[in-house]
Amino acid sequence: MALLVQKFGGTSVGDPDRIREVADHVVRCRKRGDQVVLVVSAMGKETDDLLRLADQVSTTKPGREMDMLITGGERKACALVSMALNDRGIDSDSFTGSQAGFITDTIHRNAKILDVRPGRIQASLDEGRVPVVGGSQGVSADRDVTFFGRGGSDTTAVALAHALGADACELYTDVPGVFTTDPRVVSEARKMDQISFDELLEMTATGCPKPAMRSVELARTFGVRLHVRSAFSWVPGTWVTEEENMESAIISAVTHDTSEAKMTVSGVSDRPGVAAQLFRALADADVNVDMIVQNVSAKGSTDISFTLPHEQTPTATATVEAIVEEIGATGSITDDEIARVSLIGAGMQTNPGVAATMFETLSTAGINIEMISTSAIRISCVVREAEAESAVSVLHGAFELHKPAAERSDL
Ligand code: ADP
Ligand code: ASP
Ligand code: MG
Repeated sequence: MALLVQKFGGTSVGDPDRIREVADHVVRCRKRGDQVVLVVSAMGKETDDLLRLADQVSTTKPGREMDMLITGGERKACALVSMALNDRGIDSDSFTGSQAGFITDTIHRNAKILDVRPGRIQASLDEGRVPVVGGSQGVSADRDVTFFGRGGSDTTAVALAHALGADACELYTDVPGVFTTDPRVVSEARKMDQISFDELLEMTATGCPKPAMRSVELARTFGVRLHVRSAFSWVPGTWVTEEENMESAIISAVTHDTSEAKMTVSGVSDRPGVAAQLFRALADADVNVDMIVQNVSAKGSTDISFTLPHEQTPTATATVEAIVEEIGATGSITDDEIARVSLIGAGMQTNPGVAATMFETLSTAGINIEMISTSAIRISCVVREAEAESAVSVLHGAFELHKPAAERSDL
């Protein structure tokens, strides 16, 4: 008998039929003898709908009210799932984040969990009932409802699994696991049976939406066993483990991210302290700078380009304009139409040919590389946004990610 925390994403509770299927799934788990705690997201695209509604009635959108609004989606879903369970003869109670014991800081729309006190959830389990918890929410020290941010239900599930000492945290979604790339982009993408925390964190940091990055970090910190799997079948999904890929793949996955823009500050004086001044000003303005490239010119001036989240470009532009003279720059421009394409694999540390093959593949496809950055187990290239999906597709093919690792050619 195992204690399982099972999280169902938006699609998995998207309509009454899906909700009844979740309940049937729980019935089967209970027949097998498992104890189950459910965490649910808002139904379908309801979170997006609620955000749109707020846009239609307000420009100020106070954080406290936004969190009251958004968490309503999960509250509705957990009550419905609990009802469906009761109909099947399974005693069940729904809980808001606050009732489930999630204590957070006071940062609305992006609250961090400070403590989980799962007394009521444990009591419900002890009585043989199935608790159903609304994801991505808690209560702050100011006793206000807080929302954990997009994808926060994964974080709720992992934190609860840790607090209850669960045997595993199962994240049920609309695909059968973590794939070698987004299966919506490349139909030959392969489901991985296993992936290391290091690799999955690089994937989630470079555009893979599943699981949410914070939940992966939390699972690693607390040693929670994480299993990403399909809500539509019983086929085992992807286990996330500390060890590197047992299949010993050199490359595990290709990801892409279109959420960033590129900013170029041109004609900057080529003297010590200028980069420090520029990036200090951006940091003080809370701009999240990512890749940075500097081209040194012969004439004593340089161009500095960097990437940043789309929504921060107005702030960054204002910040740079304010110091343009001080740093001797001639001006700045932003470019929204970029994408970052990344190759991830623990095996690249010991295989020097990976970068060359990546660049050759993009060049053969006529795709220009605008910026490059690397970590020990990742290489990222900035390309035109319109070329991102073809870049993903040619790289997936070149590294033969559609084949099992043992059948791939040497690099
Ligand atoms: P949920 O709502 O269940 O939490 P999301 O919709 O946030 O799940 O994320 C699931 C989606 O992520 C899938 O439908 C899939 O298209 C997409 N995705 C992108 N890259 C990958 C990948 N490498 N592996 C699995 N899914 C991916
Ligand atoms: N419903 C919220 C979202 O879409 C939280 C979640 O699903 O994790 O971001
Ligand atoms: Mg989601």
